[in-house]
Amino acid sequence: MHIAVVGAGPAGTWASILLARRGHFVTLIDPQAPWEKPCGGGVTAKALSQFGIFTSDLPRKNIDQITIYFGDTNSVTVTPQKPIAVLSRRELGKYLLDAAEIAGVSILKGRVNHIEPIARGWHLFSRDTSLQSDFLIGADGATSLVRRTVATALQPEELAVTLGYFIPGSGPAHMKVYFVPGFEGYIWSFPRPSHISYGLITRSEPGWTARAKTLLSNFIVADLGPDPLKHAEFYSAPVPCLGPHSWARNRISGERWALIGDAAGLVDPITGEGIHYAFKSAELLAQTIEKPDEYASQVGREIGRELARAARMYRRFYRGRFLGADFRKRTIQLSRRSRTLRSVLGDLILGNQSYLTLKKDLVFSIPSIGIDLITGRI
Ligand SMILES: Cc1cc2nc3c(=O)[nH]c(=O)nc-3n(C[C@H](O)[C@H](O)[C@H](O)COP(=O)(O)OP(=O)(O)OC[C@H]3O[C@@H](n4cnc5c(N)ncnc54)[C@H](O)[C@@H]3O)c2cc1C
Repeated sequence: MHIAVVGAGPAGTWASILLARRGHFVTLIDPQAPWEKPCGGGVTAKALSQFGIFTSDLPRKNIDQITIYFGDTNSVTVTPQKPIAVLSRRELGKYLLDAAEIAGVSILKGRVNHIEPIARGWHLFSRDTSLQSDFLIGADGATSLVRRTVATALQPEELAVTLGYFIPGSGPAHMKVYFVPGFEGYIWSFPRPSHISYGLITRSEPGWTARAKTLLSNFIVADLGPDPLKHAEFYSAPVPCLGPHSWARNRISGERWALIGDAAGLVDPITGEGIHYAFKSAELLAQTIEKPDEYASQVGREIGRELARAARMYRRFYRGRFLGADFRKRTIQLSRRSRTLRSVLGDLILGNQSYLTLKKDLVFSIPSIGIDLITGRI
């Protein structure tokens, strides 16, 4: 079968590699890959352990410590129990594209600007070329043209806003996540091999964007002083952030087409983690390409249930109260005094704790947390 894959991010390139290895004739189209996509580049243990590309010599920074802040006066530092790494998206893209070439994928440089259904397939057009395929894969990110053509675009309320800077230089292997009181979202500082990725993610009201930029600048100045910011390049990009009701109507496959990664809306709405789900959905599609309905149900079972639960927990995480204070503040304060709770909080932020089992895991941890608090075991 001839398969056209639109978008050479992690989802599109990984799907292309796996499909070409299965004997399909794959054309992968992207105007700019490999590129430094606006992204923190944080890769969690579940992605590092599941996908072969991460066992290569891909340059990455392995993180030793993560500090989680709530405002300026509450913080807790966690040592990751499982590996977590930060990498440059350009490097990841280059490794994936090299592997795609070896697998026999045909790579075209271009932006698809129009897609038409034809008998038994699709006709895709870019400025310089056009091609026909039997099957169409949309891996073209949060504002996917493929999604807009075959299904419904993600709506503004299904997208979070991100702002950020890449600051050249190297820092210690120490991640920072900073929650701002009264603000839905967080600021991050992720050290990479050759620069530091600073950014902010929010789903708050539109008026927040200017204030968010100031918050982020203040954080960077407090961390590094004012000079690095003067030469840093600013970016802003959307990332899917589906609410509880969006999951039921999120259509990701149909006759001769499927969506993967961000184009399918597969991002953790609380943390913004999407790289794992990009790889995972690519893998599920490669296994079920002849049965697109099967693909949608497998994504529902293996990804959708988890992310839909996260979407239901979003409000409580960012706006909930716990023991008379903001949920995040209280959790950070208690985590300073209980290594059990600290480990649950760290696993949650680092993507190692399933939202589906969070409640049960917390209930089972209560005796241990109680002992930590009573005995002062930290
Ligand atoms: C600021 C920011 C920080 C993030 N931080 C993290 C993080 O630390 N960890 C994490 O796991 N996730 C993070 N994410 C989410 C992560 O970046 C995405 O979930 C992930 O990149 C999704 O991969 P993808 O292949 O689906 O899409 P993308 O990586 O977005 O790739 C889409 C590709 O499609 C191409 N494209 C778009 N339109 C067309 C077209 N018309 N024709 C051809 N090609 C096209 C683009 O050029 C691009 O290369 C972050 C996102 C943002 C915005």
